[in-house]
Amino acid sequence: MRLNSIKLSGFKSFAEPTHFQLPGQLVGVVGPNGCGKSNIMDAVRWVLGESKASELRGESMQDVIFSGSGNRKGASRASVELVFSNEDARAGGQWNQFTEIAVRRVLTRDGTSSYFINNQPVRRRDVQDVFLGTGLGPRAYAIIGQGTISRIIESKPEELRLFLEEAAGVSKYKERRRETENR
Ligand code: ATP
Ligand code: MG
Repeated sequence: MRLNSIKLSGFKSFAEPTHFQLPGQLVGVVGPNGCGKSNIMDAVRWVLGESKASELRGESMQDVIFSGSGNRKGASRASVELVFSNEDARAGGQWNQFTEIAVRRVLTRDGTSSYFINNQPVRRRDVQDVFLGTGLGPRAYAIIGQGTISRIIESKPEELRLFLEEAAGVSKYKERRRETENR
């Protein structure tokens, strides 16, 4: 799977609808301090289902909604869409039949979070199912943030095992087994 584009609106510093195309194998994002580079990666992890505000450098989840600046008032909701190409058919579950998979998350000020895949309302876990075993996921190894390397090096054996299981593609089977056992 490959991330082809990111559309943000009302997410952190992206007050206006913003569309990033990610062409080619290597894309660099450059800009002065505080211009929103890390906010783009926060947006990616947020759509993939990150539920801990501190992992997104906020205190509460509503902190991802544009809070206003100067004379511009805050946004009523944050919305981010990631468009993946699924040419290699590696997505999990029923969505694997599509060559393009658009995943969107929306959060309103009252705290309502909703997810969509190809414009259909889905649950958070449906989004997780698409990416389980692909290395993508809010905390999976496809996203290596500042400090991630040392987090892996310093992790306890149990945590390290989770990374290895995701890389080996075992995690999705473990998740299925857990679900079956809990039924
Ligand atoms: P650096 O080069 O220092 O790492 P950066 O380009 O990664 O900078 P970010 O951390 O992505 O910068 O962006 C920080 C900016 O985003 C700050 O100016 C902060 O005020 C703004 N910001 C974060 N959350 C919100 C929000 N909810 N509403 C408005 N602005 C926000
Ligand atoms: Mg940064």
